[in-house]
Amino acid sequence: MRKVDCSKIDRPSCLDYDDKSSPASKELKGVLEKIDLDGAKIKYQVYKNLEIKYSLEKLFFNKCAYCETNYSIIQPVDIEHFRPKASVKVGKKVVSKGYYWLAACWENLLPSCIDCNRTRNIDFVHADSRTLSGKTGKGNQFELVDENERILKFNHRKKLSNVNISSSVDKEQALLLNPRFDEVDEYFDYSDEGVITVSDGLTCDIKRDRAQSSIETYGLNRVELVFARKQVLLLIDNYVFLLRKLLRYIDDEQSSKHRAILEEFSVYVTKFIRTLLTNEKPYCSMSRKIVRKRLKGIVDL
Ligand SMILES: [Zn+2]
Repeated sequence: MRKVDCSKIDRPSCLDYDDKSSPASKELKGVLEKIDLDGAKIKYQVYKNLEIKYSLEKLFFNKCAYCETNYSIIQPVDIEHFRPKASVKVGKKVVSKGYYWLAACWENLLPSCIDCNRTRNIDFVHADSRTLSGKTGKGNQFELVDENERILKFNHRKKLSNVNISSSVDKEQALLLNPRFDEVDEYFDYSDEGVITVSDGLTCDIKRDRAQSSIETYGLNRVELVFARKQVLLLIDNYVFLLRKLLRYIDDEQSSKHRAILEEFSVYVTKFIRTLLTNEKPYCSMSRKIVRKRLKGIVDL
């Protein structure tokens, strides 16, 4: 998971609550009229608009917001509501009928792969390296650090505007990490086997709980995901090894002609390592941490 600078892409026009005639404004007005009526069926359609899909995919480079896998090669994206639009659960208990007013809120939408978003039985790697089976995937799970802070409904008297809607949940602190708003990189470390763990550098209990809950709920140690991260780590380790060797040979080389050749190779290898750290690459948050650790004091990347 990596923090994404969401200011780089404008809010899709269909989600503009400052425009009373936008699809989002019209849909929310209809939802607010029905939400307290018993048995009323509410359908949410606006968030499925292709304009939103394209904007999210551009912002997140076709990667899942939670696990950083490039899902687009093998599966369609799930437009994920960070705060569930209907029926919020904590464990097995339903705690609210959902954040219905955030169903078409730009700040509440993320692109997700199916495995992170949908609750399913899956094999995952435990912190002690055992492979276990169990239910993972976010589904409608949405626990708060303090359940007493939960906002259960939108204040109907408030004017519908982008600011009023997106700030309506500012007082809540989610237990799950959100790559739109949280400095997620500081929360995690990675083992040499590609297993994601709570960062040793985290001393705050709430931060540690948020990291652990995110690993478990999104299923960030699914067997296939750990394997995919391990492949990237192997690639990094091979090129880091090569670069360290080249730098040592350059230091020892007497011939200026041979040294120039070795330097040319080292520039090429460094460039290649840099490409693995760019935002569009899968698992780049892990790659950055690992490369910085491996090349600390040798090369600044
Ligand atoms: Zn994912």
